[in-house]
Amino acid sequence: MIRTGERYLDDMRDGRTIFINGEKITNHVDHPAFKNAIRSVARLYDYKAEHTDKMAFKAENGELMSLYWQLPTTPEKLIARGQAAYEWARQTMGWLGRTPDYVAAALAGMITHIELFESYSQERADALRNYFSYVSENDLYLSYALINPQGDRSKTPGEHTRNLYHTLGVVEKNTKGIIVRGTKMLATGAVLADEILVGSHKPLKPGIDERYALSFALPLNTKGIKIISRKSYEFGINPKDYPISSQFDETDSMIYFDDVLVPWERVFVFEDIEMIANQLGSTMSEAMMDIQSLARYVAKLHFLAGLAQSMVEVNGVAQIPAVKESLAQLACYAVSVEALFNSVLHCPKVHNGFYLPDKTQLDTYRVLSQSIYPKVLEIIRKLAGGGVLMLPSSEADLENDEILGIIEKAQYSSLVSPVERVRMMKLVWDVIGSEFASRHHQYELFYAGAEFQTLGRLYNQYDWGASKALVEKIKTI
Ligand SMILES: Cc1cc2nc3c(=O)[nH]c(=O)nc-3n(C[C@H](O)[C@H](O)[C@H](O)COP(=O)(O)OP(=O)(O)OC[C@H]3O[C@@H](n4cnc5c(N)ncnc54)[C@H](O)[C@@H]3O)c2cc1C
Repeated sequence: MIRTGERYLDDMRDGRTIFINGEKITNHVDHPAFKNAIRSVARLYDYKAEHTDKMAFKAENGELMSLYWQLPTTPEKLIARGQAAYEWARQTMGWLGRTPDYVAAALAGMITHIELFESYSQERADALRNYFSYVSENDLYLSYALINPQGDRSKTPGEHTRNLYHTLGVVEKNTKGIIVRGTKMLATGAVLADEILVGSHKPLKPGIDERYALSFALPLNTKGIKIISRKSYEFGINPKDYPISSQFDETDSMIYFDDVLVPWERVFVFEDIEMIANQLGSTMSEAMMDIQSLARYVAKLHFLAGLAQSMVEVNGVAQIPAVKESLAQLACYAVSVEALFNSVLHCPKVHNGFYLPDKTQLDTYRVLSQSIYPKVLEIIRKLAGGGVLMLPSSEADLENDEILGIIEKAQYSSLVSPVERVRMMKLVWDVIGSEFASRHHQYELFYAGAEFQTLGRLYNQYDWGASKALVEKIKTI
């Protein structure tokens, strides 16, 4: 089925428990901390429903389904998945990281390697397969919580003997399922999604950490799930002052599981350290998510390049050669990443009859995206100068005739009106300097793992033999 925005908004009224600003709230759909972001997601669903030609496919039963649930059994299906991800990313200019196609891709990447789950446990493989059918048929939106909370990273969770449920772990099992308790560090979009998929990404020690080797999924309104939201960046601000923060704060939350029952049919990995590592490391789960990440990043880089170009035009410096060089650098980043995106879609590797993206290229993307983003921000900051601070404190200043009179003289541009100039500079600050911008900076540095992890993965993935063969060739010349 193709979900509409209206249906999504109705489904979100599910009474989940969210804590923010000292309050426990159960109707977050209309809460000023979340309502705009939720409506941005609703608009994406509407966009999809209105563009099923490029955003949906016909399933075997004749029903239309969202393209991100389609398994890539042909090269064309892989390309269509990437193009649909890019189409959605363009609707938010790349500012929503965890749109519903992100974690859907993680599940798809597990299903392409279902044999791994089958060799581990037929029951758990069936649970995963049935879950995939359920969420795809109902077009549900998932959030993902993998990382254990920081604490003492020199120890594994089970070595914190005085606080065993600092990290989410199993308390007991019974005929119905398992009872889990403890924390997962962050789940981006937990207030926007229907369900949460839980896994584990940090190293675990056999004999000590089995209780943390878990993967399961639950609706976010399940009794005992407590969503502890970080500060909302849309709360209490005027969209005219913060045009991006006010619409696209997808939120990040710590998730606490307060003795939550997970039925067996929702458990995918249970107390198995090898299998929990394989769930991500030996399937295409992360690689399939990276297609969406790449699409989003391309849209964001093009947006930032376009914004920088507009800003220097407004400031009358666009024709200076050094300024053009800075802009060309932004264009270079955007085009390089777009080329990588196209390569990922058009050079698949085949496994089990599925056409899957090349992991080396995706690991390259992860490293590249982390190193590019700070440079992009620095270029735009340098081009912006103090103009992003010579700004009225809020939209209210523009409604005060005395201040407006001064602004109309002071915010001069030969290209746009003073008020348009103010709006442009506020937009620039929102994406390079606001708290939202800072969070995005952190997101690009960490969402795919810390740099030591992304570099480590690329090191392991790269074909060193082929490179060294070239070096050997010199001996034969
Ligand atoms: C905005 C944002 C959104 C996120 N959303 C999600 C989400 O939706 N779901 C989810 O599961 N996770 C999410 N994360 C968490 C993310 O996956 C982690 O931040 C990431 O995996 C790094 O883990 P960590 O934060 O525990 O850092 P740590 O592992 O604690 O590392 C922090 C730093 O310590 C140093 N360090 C630690 N260990 C080593 C080592 N062995 N070698 C070298 N240096 C080391 C490095 O400088 C490293 O950068 C999000 C993070 C951010 C910032």
